[in-house]
Amino acid sequence: MANKSYDDWKAQAADLAFCNQAWIDGRFVPAISGETFATVNPATEQILAEVAACDSADVDVAVHSARAAFARGDWSERSPEQRKQVLLKLADLIEQHQDELALLDTLDMGKSIAESTGLDLPSSIGCWRWTAEAVDKIYGEIAPTGNDALALMSREPIGVVGAIVPWNYPLMMATWKLAPALAAGNSVVLKPSEKSPLSVLRLAQLAQDAGLPDGVLNVLPGYGHTAGKALALHMDVDVLVFTGSTRVAGMLMEYAGQSNLKRVWLEAGGKSPNIIFDDCDDIAEAAANAAAAIYSNQGEVCIAASRLYVQKGIRDEFLAALQGAAKAYRPGDPLDPATTMGPLVDAAQLESVNRYIASGLDEGGTLVLGGVREHRAGEGFYAQPTLISDAHNGMTFVREEIFGPVLALCEFDTEEEAVRLANDSVYGLGACVWTSNLKRAHRVSRKIQSGMVWVNGWGDGDQSVAFGGVKGSGNGRDKSLHALEKYTELKTIWIRL
Ligand code: NAD
Repeated sequence: MANKSYDDWKAQAADLAFCNQAWIDGRFVPAISGETFATVNPATEQILAEVAACDSADVDVAVHSARAAFARGDWSERSPEQRKQVLLKLADLIEQHQDELALLDTLDMGKSIAESTGLDLPSSIGCWRWTAEAVDKIYGEIAPTGNDALALMSREPIGVVGAIVPWNYPLMMATWKLAPALAAGNSVVLKPSEKSPLSVLRLAQLAQDAGLPDGVLNVLPGYGHTAGKALALHMDVDVLVFTGSTRVAGMLMEYAGQSNLKRVWLEAGGKSPNIIFDDCDDIAEAAANAAAAIYSNQGEVCIAASRLYVQKGIRDEFLAALQGAAKAYRPGDPLDPATTMGPLVDAAQLESVNRYIASGLDEGGTLVLGGVREHRAGEGFYAQPTLISDAHNGMTFVREEIFGPVLALCEFDTEEEAVRLANDSVYGLGACVWTSNLKRAHRVSRKIQSGMVWVNGWGDGDQSVAFGGVKGSGNGRDKSLHALEKYTELKTIWIRL
């Protein structure tokens, strides 16, 4: 797989078959309404497949199937060791089909094949393996009661999990929910984004091949305001897990309140700050990371470090290094293994990115790189890697999540000012601090309001650490044992002796 050429990928893409129906109770079915929606390749603007457009009627059937599977107990009551074996088999099957799955995501939402094979697939496979291996190593507790009682606290599966995920890492975001949900013994109804449903439909089939009983995993392609809303409002869904925008995250909390108070775990938007202090001892490295942090995956990254704060004394030196580093990102055909930046997911996303670039310039920013790229029909939804300097926190494009390759360069004088500017945001997902001063690194990391802080790096992490945010970036945590907790109920049993 590693050394496939551009022609190899194009040939494989031409031969690819798509799963385009809903996966309910262990088989593919059309939407009850018969409706479909088109999923489009953003690089060519051609329709890849017409996919079942599920709505509340399909959600009812899928939730019923998930509940029945849970009640049957052929997954929920299997021993953790047995569940582990099935999920490890699934990881093996995903590994065997990794080129196909990587290609599905690249065709469906435009990320480069280098990114899907180099990040999305290894990370997803790793998540399945790590989580499967963890599940039979978690113990309950015996409370320190008096001698007249034995009090046990144990973790139990919750029941039916509704999972709603975005399009920017289709397989990986779904995996971050599915692996812990299933490992813990729950049944799941997953709604992928209408912009990228294909890889998870294939994944569902592989899960059956691995031995997951029918009904334990259901995948419902469809729109957010129909299928997603019906799932979030459903009275028989016990927990809702979500990755997506802060706007929709807020709606899901309302839906939970309007229905059955289902637990809601949210991974939402971000506007991560990247602070470069003048004592940073490797400007070239910091600049390369600053470019990767906004231009990789076309900037369609929740932890994109889109607000760059550079200390005044090194501003010009840093800007020159950044301009050099940004050259590594040029939009191109995502099927070419040399491509570092694919098209944006659709026309609406490109329009929105262009609007933010225009507003940044209108509000007084200086264009250093890129700029608005007008769309010509049929050429793909490509945006330009863009850098706007002379930016400040009062500007719209510095405050709002753009979800595209647009970087704002701001300046600061003091450490206190840097912390204040970084925290001046409704979001709190990730943050970067570049300094060679150990005390400063600790001091600033503690003061930054975000779920994750990277010191002298960006985006680092593995399956063993939690991923998630604070403030408007949500309340959930993916990955690590903390993710598993979200999919279990804590049960107390008090026995009089
Ligand atoms: P989105 O909120 O528009 O959609 C996410 C999902 O919610 C989709 O499946 C969509 O169909 C569904 N949805 C939309 N309206 C709904 C409704 N009314 N009821 C129920 N479901 C509904 O987000 P997106 O455009 O798919 O993804 C981009 C966003 O995701 C960005 O804000 C990004 O920061 C965020 N994101 C966050 C993380 C994280 O870990 N915090 C990771 C990746 C992406």
